Amino acid sequence: MKTLILAGGGHAHVEVLRRFGLSRPSGVRILLVSPDSHTPYSGMLPGLLAGHYTRDDCHIDLRPLCDRAGAAFAVTRVEGIDLPGRRVRCADGQSHEFDALSLDVGSTPDLRSVPGAAEHTVPVKPVAGLLEAWRDMEARCERRPAGPLRLAVVGGGAGGAEVALAMRRRCRREDPQQEPAIAIVTNGLLSGHSARARVLVARALARRRITLMDQRLVVRLTAGEIQCASGERVPADLIVWATGAAAVPWVRQCGLACDDRGFAAVNDGLQSPSHPFVFAAGDVATMLTRPLPKAGVFAVRQGPVLAGNLRSYLAGEPLRPFRPQPRYLSLMSTADGHAIASWAGLAWEGRWVWAWKDRIDRRFMRKYRTGRIPP
Ligand SMILES: Cc1cc2nc3c(=O)[nH]c(=O)nc-3n(C[C@H](O)[C@H](O)[C@H](O)COP(=O)(O)OP(=O)(O)OC[C@H]3O[C@@H](n4cnc5c(N)ncnc54)[C@H](O)[C@@H]3O)c2cc1C
Repeated sequence: MKTLILAGGGHAHVEVLRRFGLSRPSGVRILLVSPDSHTPYSGMLPGLLAGHYTRDDCHIDLRPLCDRAGAAFAVTRVEGIDLPGRRVRCADGQSHEFDALSLDVGSTPDLRSVPGAAEHTVPVKPVAGLLEAWRDMEARCERRPAGPLRLAVVGGGAGGAEVALAMRRRCRREDPQQEPAIAIVTNGLLSGHSARARVLVARALARRRITLMDQRLVVRLTAGEIQCASGERVPADLIVWATGAAAVPWVRQCGLACDDRGFAAVNDGLQSPSHPFVFAAGDVATMLTRPLPKAGVFAVRQGPVLAGNLRSYLAGEPLRPFRPQPRYLSLMSTADGHAIASWAGLAWEGRWVWAWKDRIDRRFMRKYRTGRIPP
């Protein structure tokens, strides 16, 4: 009997588990290690913050997926890998031996790059932490003399813009009279997207009275204040940190081949070139032949190939390459029944885009409730 450990219940691993549930690999014991029994689906997180979705709507329960796949589930965090001994070390003090290991532990916003970020901001992920910080802030603000809530998001990627729009929506739902002061501070709105998408997002922000401070470099955070290289200071009751992704440190520390940012390097088969018994997918991985943006859509697409390759590796069969699509669709909610689509230099906005996004997201979630292979 061989042992396969799946570290992390991310977007690729839920597909691996679903496929193993439909056809279990023979002679393989599977263990999933993940700190939460429910894993969030990123596409719906801004909708959760805005109040469009409940927590259940946008979280996948990993336990039934494990049950169907015949996998054991250790609800804890991986803290290190002993590569020569082929063991993972976990936060609960346990260590587990493996024949093959697959990493899909995601990434977190990079809190180390700016002094004060770790102490004075709330990272956009995990979203449970953001919602908790939101409740704390509301309690603090109730004790403050009247005045609008001051909210700021550092980072103007698609996620940062969606979160700013969702926060405004949430404030207005809770108190329709309230017009919060919201700012996005970024050194590049929607970099990697087309000029047309940037224009649509900037317009959407302006229409909802969200101040866009573009081309600003944030150099320091103090309690309740953002300081920019330009000398500008932005006061805020809550600062959300939504900058580029950073890797968990133990991936590099264990001796696995990594890119220069500490993400696990993988070949086209999603396999480590330094340790072929280790696989990685999603944000934690960087494909050597074609580095991809850190977006959930790629983790989702890698899932089926990863499932097949883990099965093949354990059976001593050849691996299949993952071929990423050259362009990908990005759908951003403006949190008011509209959304913006960005694809291949083109962009559209409308109520129909939101309906489209909502349909795609709900269909994705249904797949992990029923375990069906979609057509
Ligand atoms: C607000 C927001 C909106 C976004 N919207 C989109 C979108 O619409 N489309 C899109 O393509 N991308 C979107 N993204 C990006 C997307 O969230 C990530 O690219 C995606 O989640 C990466 O998937 P993953 O499978 O690599 O990891 P994740 O989905 O982050 O999953 C990682 C899993 O590993 C677990 N884990 C973490 N650490 C450990 C550990 N040490 N040991 C064991 N388990 C661990 C976590 O609990 C989690 O279950 C958005 C991001 C944000 C912040």
